[in-house]
Amino acid sequence: MGVDEAIKRAVEANVPRTMSILEKYPYVTELAKELRRAKEEVIRNLDYYVDKTIKSLEAIGARAYLARDGEEARSIISGIVGKGKVIVLGKTMVGAEIGLREYLTSIGNEVWETDLGEFLLQLTGDKPTHIVAPALHMTRERAAEVIKRKLGINVKADPSEIAQAARRFLRDKFFRADFGITGANAVAADTGAVLLIENEGNIRFTTVSPPVHIVLTGIEKIVPTLHHAMMEVLVQSAYAGLYPPTYVNLVAGPSSTADVEQTRVSPSHGPREVHVILLDNGRSKAAKDELLWEALLCIRCGRCHFHCPVYRALDGSWGESPYVGPMGVMWTAIVYGIEKAGPHAMLCMHAGTCREACPMKINIPEIIQGIKARYVRLMGNGGMVHEDRR
Ligand code: SF4
Repeated sequence: MGVDEAIKRAVEANVPRTMSILEKYPYVTELAKELRRAKEEVIRNLDYYVDKTIKSLEAIGARAYLARDGEEARSIISGIVGKGKVIVLGKTMVGAEIGLREYLTSIGNEVWETDLGEFLLQLTGDKPTHIVAPALHMTRERAAEVIKRKLGINVKADPSEIAQAARRFLRDKFFRADFGITGANAVAADTGAVLLIENEGNIRFTTVSPPVHIVLTGIEKIVPTLHHAMMEVLVQSAYAGLYPPTYVNLVAGPSSTADVEQTRVSPSHGPREVHVILLDNGRSKAAKDELLWEALLCIRCGRCHFHCPVYRALDGSWGESPYVGPMGVMWTAIVYGIEKAGPHAMLCMHAGTCREACPMKINIPEIIQGIKARYVRLMGNGGMVHEDRR
């Protein structure tokens, strides 16, 4: 059984489930409209909101950084982490964008993915094929075979047995870890609160068990207020077909207690340090781009993938990893440039179903059309990439 069968099974499971969630909780689509307005406000005034978020993070005792590109982000993180450490990773797409796991391993750390899909990819060396379910291309049969071959644990081709084997293997890694690194679903500019949703419980362990928590996220994840951040996690999880999410994690600075004479001291049971790295890597340039700015509204729900005939036909390998699918073509242009995004954009058939499915109503077909036009111009210019990376 191959990749196409795995994706077919995932689409068949996810699409009806998401439809019934949106029917049952109609307020979610109203929240999505309000969230779009709030995110547009941030993208139009990105410098102001980045500055405000950094100040809010520092006010709650977190350390905040703005990284211009992947190299700067890796350097900030290696400065915090050093070498010879145990690091657990919650699923972070921005981490994959900058090759974080490979980098931290190369400088002498023991690094473990703790999200089940990411963990399976770490064991196989495969690339992610979906933004919410990165091992979407893997059948249960292959996942069981990987667990047996790489971990020496005999499991049946059964999702529950596979999850339990990963749980047993990863359990002590959480408690041995010196650092926990996660992404973020939203960062509230008014308070510096970071929100993360999940169902596995691995992010909860990763954010609380190690003594230091590092958040690595893109600047487009900033929303004006904590109210909007809450809104984002509800909308994202519903459109991802996982509603209500099992866990919503809110991190607002290091752990502390004021139980003795109301004197606040830190740490308590959780981390003593929280570091938040806000990554630009093409985002602020895209925010000023008349075509690409709208792609920054993406909340990574993964719904456009399931409704796209091209993504399904290409077995999830459409786009530059980790940015695959319709959103991935847009994000390949933002992060890696038109010359990388162009060949992927050329495969789009403009079915238009992605725009219909998208909670942010991003005009994905029009953006992909614009990427095609820029790519054709670029190629007409002999592929001189300096001329047009917009
Ligand atoms: S483009 Fe829209 S549908 Fe696709 S992942 Fe982003 S928010 Fe979800």
